[in-house]
Amino acid sequence: MRLSRYFLPVLKENPAEAQIVSHRLMLRAGMIKQQAAGIYSWLPLGYKVLKRIEQIVHEEQVRAGHIPLLMPTLQPADLWRESGRYDDYGQEMLRIKDRHERDMLYGPTNEEMITDIFRSYVSSYKQLPLTLYHIQWKFRDEVRPRFGVMRGREFLMKDGYNFDLTKEDALHAYNRHMVSYLRTYERMGLTAIPMRAASGPIGGDNTHEFLVLAQTGESEVFYDAKVPDLKLGERAVDYDNRDEVAAICEEFTTLYARTDETHDEAVFNQIPEERRMVGRGIEVGQIFYFGTKYSESMGATVVTPDGNRVPVEMGSHGIGVSRLLGALIEANHDDKGIIWPEGVTPFHVGIVNLKQGDTATDAACEAIYKALQGRGLDPLYDDREDRAGAKFATMDLIGLPWRITVGPRGLANNVVELTCRRTGESEEMSATAAVERIVKIYEAH
Ligand code: ATP
Ligand code: MG
Repeated sequence: MRLSRYFLPVLKENPAEAQIVSHRLMLRAGMIKQQAAGIYSWLPLGYKVLKRIEQIVHEEQVRAGHIPLLMPTLQPADLWRESGRYDDYGQEMLRIKDRHERDMLYGPTNEEMITDIFRSYVSSYKQLPLTLYHIQWKFRDEVRPRFGVMRGREFLMKDGYNFDLTKEDALHAYNRHMVSYLRTYERMGLTAIPMRAASGPIGGDNTHEFLVLAQTGESEVFYDAKVPDLKLGERAVDYDNRDEVAAICEEFTTLYARTDETHDEAVFNQIPEERRMVGRGIEVGQIFYFGTKYSESMGATVVTPDGNRVPVEMGSHGIGVSRLLGALIEANHDDKGIIWPEGVTPFHVGIVNLKQGDTATDAACEAIYKALQGRGLDPLYDDREDRAGAKFATMDLIGLPWRITVGPRGLANNVVELTCRRTGESEEMSATAAVERIVKIYEAH
């Protein structure tokens, strides 16, 4: 993309309404525009990151054997009357009437609708196990929408639902989700710690939240200092192997890590004092096993191998896709702006032309731009007639992890400059070497 033709409405001033750094930077970098409290338009740069995050979520769900579908945002109230949640959900649910006076709602989650889909088509244990998921907008009429996309009213969520014959099978589905979530967050360059949680309106007693450590997080967290070092890394996982998946879950949940809702001071105090950490975290996902709560009330049953009819065992599993942008920025920024991890960056590399209009410099930039595109990469070329300082400030603000700077002085010696956004370190090399380096960096992502 050529910046002269892109739509990147960056703000010079700090927006007064933004209380935390991720909200401030998303507004300044022209990623989002607020349209009403907690409701945002996703401008091109923000939309690009959102799509990249969505893509990673999809890939890791499919890898775990889960099947994508798409349910609507609007739901009939009657489904929620069946489960009893139409009355229980309270004011967070946005209730709507259509022209025929039928009660509708903008879905805050989809347990009822997916259970309805399941009961309409599945009646035998032979069709299990089954996990269906979608990535769809949700609406929760939060009392205090704030912090930009972190606590919106309309927000994008991945929500998946497993259907199994036995509790044992459903717990395997739970574990599969835990491992696939760990991989999902790691691919984004995030450390999200599974913490034992309280279940709230979804119900059930087996649940973990995934928290990204950040000072601005809304949850208070208590954890063993060794926990953030746990990594899945490159290891291959066979999602059908119950013992293997369970062992990974055990590895990640044995050390103490809890939110204030489940914190137990006595257990916490058994950790050596120097490892007792208290901090704050951002909830970027949650998994639940809740058994037959919805299948019983809504009549989602299957015939077992010995001919009995039983309610199906279920769980639900969510990732805060739009909230992740905020969490990623909280975890990756400095005083100049955002620093995107390679896994989610909107453009792979920025090209800064120091002397737009100079024939040789323009030609060198064009060549680099085309070469990168030819290798399947997505560069952002700042081809505007602007001061070098202003171009650098924009690149730093929008946080592309790599920058290639091209100017007449370097070209006289056949070099360009390759700069790492995170370390600020620059290296001179030929244009070809710079392209090769970028290609190599992204081979891993
Ligand atoms: P919270 O405790 O933050 O209100 P929740 O526990 O009610 O969230 P879940 O039902 O677990 O939310 O939803 C799954 C995920 O969706 C959460 O882990 C979170 O990342 C995201 N999410 C929930 N509410 C919001 C919101 N208002 N804005 C953005 N993301 C949200
Ligand atoms: Mg939650």
